[in-house]
Amino acid sequence: MGVDNDARRAEMVAEIEAEAKATGSYTGRETFSARTLDAMRAVPRHQFVREGDLARAYVNGPLPIGQGQTISQPFIVALMTDALDLAGGERVLEIGMGSGYQTAILAALVQHVYAVEVLAELAKAAEARLRSLGRGNVSVLVGDGHAGWPEHAPYDAILVAAAASQVPDALVAQLQPGGRMVIPVGRTRMGGQELQLLSKDASGKVSQRTVLPVAFVPLVKA
Ligand code: SAH
Repeated sequence: MGVDNDARRAEMVAEIEAEAKATGSYTGRETFSARTLDAMRAVPRHQFVREGDLARAYVNGPLPIGQGQTISQPFIVALMTDALDLAGGERVLEIGMGSGYQTAILAALVQHVYAVEVLAELAKAAEARLRSLGRGNVSVLVGDGHAGWPEHAPYDAILVAAAASQVPDALVAQLQPGGRMVIPVGRTRMGGQELQLLSKDASGKVSQRTVLPVAFVPLVKA
């Protein structure tokens, strides 16, 4: 009795599209690009969750992945990805690799992803998953993402999947002029954060706007 994962993913994407519409007045994006949605349709999320969560792999919610961490909600993954307006040739820095699911979505859309994860075991498992999916355009570093990954900077886009109290200076410095960064920042009264979108213009000037209230695990100090 096979489960039809393609059908479950199609349903997940329909839910993402509905949520994009419902939140469009906050986010400024009522619809996501075809590229973003195609990547969400293509990546097998069930291969990034724990055995016991297989039945919930395509529910539009976060799931535990061990060590107190979670794989992000599909809608949030799609929103953060879409906010970066990726055209295909980019080199992207990702902080907080976790299960590697968001990494796989990015890797389907850009030239290369540089992923940083502080927990060595998660990084190792995520790297093995991506390898088994045939993803060759991902490099992984175990370390504290507050420092970014200076050796490969600057990046055309940066995605941070854990909450920072403020935007780390090193990440701003490693963003290419013309580049964009999405990052959950601060602490709202509800205990969550605000997803921020930063843009660096050609002259290096940074502007910032709030996209949506979110709830991420914290970016820990290593
Ligand atoms: N995007 C991931 C989920 C991220 S959960 C996915 O799709 O599965 C946040 C991740 O950030 C966790 O794996 C956590 O270990 C990691 N993290 C927390 N603090 C960090 C830091 N300082 N540097 C790098 N990674 C960090």
